Amino acid sequence: MTMLQSLDPATGEVVWEGEEADAGVVHSALARARRAFPGWAALPNDRRVAHVQAFKAALEERREGLATVISRETGKPLWETRGEVASMIGKVAISIAAQAERAGERRNAMPFGEAVLRHRPHGVMAVLGPFNFPGHLPNGHNVPALLAGNTIVFKPSELTPATGAAMAECWAEAGLPDGVFQVVQGGRSTGEALVAGEIDGLLFTGSAGAGAHFRRLFADRPHVILALELGGNNPLVAWDGDVEETASIVVQSSFVTTGQRCSCARRLIVPDDAFGRDLVEAVDSLARRVIIGRWNDEPQPYIGPLISPAAAAAAKVRADELVARGARELRSFKVLDCMGPAFVRPAILDVTGVDVPDDEIFAPIVQVTRVPDFDAALAAANATRFGLSAGLVSGDDALWQRFVLESRAGVVNRNRPTTGAAGSMPFGGLGESGNHRPSAYYAADYCAYPMASFEAAHADGNAAALAGMLTP
Ligand code: NAD
Repeated sequence: MTMLQSLDPATGEVVWEGEEADAGVVHSALARARRAFPGWAALPNDRRVAHVQAFKAALEERREGLATVISRETGKPLWETRGEVASMIGKVAISIAAQAERAGERRNAMPFGEAVLRHRPHGVMAVLGPFNFPGHLPNGHNVPALLAGNTIVFKPSELTPATGAAMAECWAEAGLPDGVFQVVQGGRSTGEALVAGEIDGLLFTGSAGAGAHFRRLFADRPHVILALELGGNNPLVAWDGDVEETASIVVQSSFVTTGQRCSCARRLIVPDDAFGRDLVEAVDSLARRVIIGRWNDEPQPYIGPLISPAAAAAAKVRADELVARGARELRSFKVLDCMGPAFVRPAILDVTGVDVPDDEIFAPIVQVTRVPDFDAALAAANATRFGLSAGLVSGDDALWQRFVLESRAGVVNRNRPTTGAAGSMPFGGLGESGNHRPSAYYAADYCAYPMASFEAAHADGNAAALAGMLTP
């Protein structure tokens, strides 16, 4: 038996402790989900909606407790995790609307009867969740997949099992039939057992490396639908405008959630002129004002620690590598040992003219590139194998039109942080950021497949329709 623990990254205190699910436990969960599938899929839609509404009521009841659990496990300030729980609650109405709009039933009259479009569930879905939004992101798969009639075996991140357990309690309160929603706790080997098992879909939010692994792993299992929501190396082009406002957009884009959002701006692209210089200075002085602290400190900090001391040490290695390649430290990256080994200081590195790897660094490090003109800015923005989010700060409509036309990313924002996203929109990326199955409003698309039918009440008319036949 292997034990799993999650720790408060700010204090090292144990938040959750339990057994990891081994391959045997995972396979019996999958077997239960398989048995539950036909009954759940056959329920009328409004019955599934009622269960999901009951889940929403359970979330509402536990709002503050759930925010606290997420904060303790991730170190995120309470203001942020309260917002995360609000997004989980909001997901229910959005998913019901999305399912009706994108995956409902349509009937067209035909001379013989009807053409009917239906959407059918895939079957048993494996859901693998990340640590950074351990409630909201797997919830963005779970709710639409259940509404569509799938059953689920969900493995939360090994760093956030308490959040996964709290979500499971809410689903239990929703009175789902046995086997419809199950949680298995564990790390890599539990995840491997899950994806090796009898599944019909893998709904994954996590790193691009794991996503690439799954693409290869499932190459010979084409019946398994893959929805891959992965990372990015996102550009923010800050071109003109009010320097203070622009600096706020940069800080929000790059440092919110201690840089642990998939949509964070990793690369700041500025003109090599007075605006660019003033902006970088303003970002630096705003970064100095960022309060770093524990999730329940008062006044509330802007950011907490990274997810673990190991993540902080790894980010330090990456920052040092950039500096060794020639990056200039406008504000250096530091592990704030005086606060605890997972706390870090956000960094601003000028990498103009430096050959830097096109990788995601999941930490508050923004790499600045100065460019001579807007063509060069666009080229720099698109010079990535990823394509999740991108942003432009500019009051110039013509530049925005070019940016929208030429940006290769799934989320492209103007005069708003790159992290700005709405559940009423699709959320997903191109290139190595995904596999063309965006989540959020479009999750309904990967949770069910379309089935087209020609339907006539009787067989009359078919014989008469045969042309080119010999007379009997
Ligand atoms: P991760 O890839 O390390 O892990 C995600 C989940 O997959 C975990 O539950 C983990 O146990 C499991 N897993 C990982 N490798 C596996 C394997 N080979 N077999 C089976 N299971 C495996 O990701 P993370 O560190 O938890 O999350 C951070 C990453 O997620 C960042 O790269 C971030 O950009 C990305 N992310 C993307 C989105 C999006 O919507 N595009 C949103 C949030 C986070």
